[in-house]
Amino acid sequence: MKAAVWYNNRDIRIEEVPLRRPGPREMLVKVISCGICGSDIVEWYRLPRAPLVQGHEIGAEVVEVGASVDGFRPGDRVFVAPKVPCGACSYCREGHFPQCTEVKERLPGGFAEYILVPEVLVEKGAYPLAGSISYDQSTFIEPLACVVRSQRLAGLKGGHSVLVLGCGMSGLLQVQLAKVKNCTVVATDIVEKKLAYARDFGADLAMPAGGDVPGRVRGFLGKKPDIVMLCSSALSAVEQAWACVDKGGAVVFFAVPGPAKTVTIPINDYWTKEVRILTSYYCGPPDMQEAMKLLAAKAIDVERMITHRLPLADIVRGFELVMRGEDAVKVIIKPHAKEGNAGS
Ligand SMILES: [Zn+2]
Ligand SMILES: [Zn+2]
Repeated sequence: MKAAVWYNNRDIRIEEVPLRRPGPREMLVKVISCGICGSDIVEWYRLPRAPLVQGHEIGAEVVEVGASVDGFRPGDRVFVAPKVPCGACSYCREGHFPQCTEVKERLPGGFAEYILVPEVLVEKGAYPLAGSISYDQSTFIEPLACVVRSQRLAGLKGGHSVLVLGCGMSGLLQVQLAKVKNCTVVATDIVEKKLAYARDFGADLAMPAGGDVPGRVRGFLGKKPDIVMLCSSALSAVEQAWACVDKGGAVVFFAVPGPAKTVTIPINDYWTKEVRILTSYYCGPPDMQEAMKLLAAKAIDVERMITHRLPLADIVRGFELVMRGEDAVKVIIKPHAKEGNAGS
């Protein structure tokens, strides 16, 4: 089969790779849609495992199941998680699923025609897709689950005011989910088109990331925001987060500036103000379930976030689109499509 092997963001090669039949407890799925995630283009994060086949936002069709698999049949539409936590280690017991120490197998990458799903993921990481979720929409399950988790960790609830810094795919999901929860939402970005999206998806105010962001946010809300979601890796966004957050509020690092940069925390100031600083990384099974529920109920409009559908052969272009971040929100690779914009 063909797979896109990633060496770095500018060197992704379509290679012929061997594919074997599923063992008794494995299954073979055909990748219909696989989203390019913002984290796929972060080289410092991905290069240590290169060359690799990326792609963890997968909508697939079961084509063959092992003799001992009863939960799935050929033709089933599924989402498969990239990995599953054990549920029993000390981290899992505390709900820190992304920290599970017992994860041994990961799902092979989805920028490929097929995936042989390992036993543990057939058992605990594969979910049938509700009829109302298309394959393309299913590529949002994992990213939305990460957003669900971050808002839960932040203690976000109805009535809160939320500032979202950065309106890429994740930022726009943050905006939509906070609106579902009846929050007042302000969003920033450097790209005007992204601000238009943010407004369109319900942001009460969307404004350029430059200039006096703290002043304008405060002027609009009449107070400082309770929750600041950092969905940008710019150091200037971190500085704005520090200046914007209210007493008793939280700054959530959903994105980070990268290992070469240093962040200074105004900890003396925050000490008296009881500001919480937290990180949110990846998601766990309950977050995935919640994301699927939201998508099945059409509570989050992901369809209009899809800007590009590309065949596997155009994956380099897909990565360029995500890196440039101007015209693209969600780019989906369709490994079996011959050309772009090939339906869902
Ligand atoms: Zn992702
Ligand atoms: Zn565990």
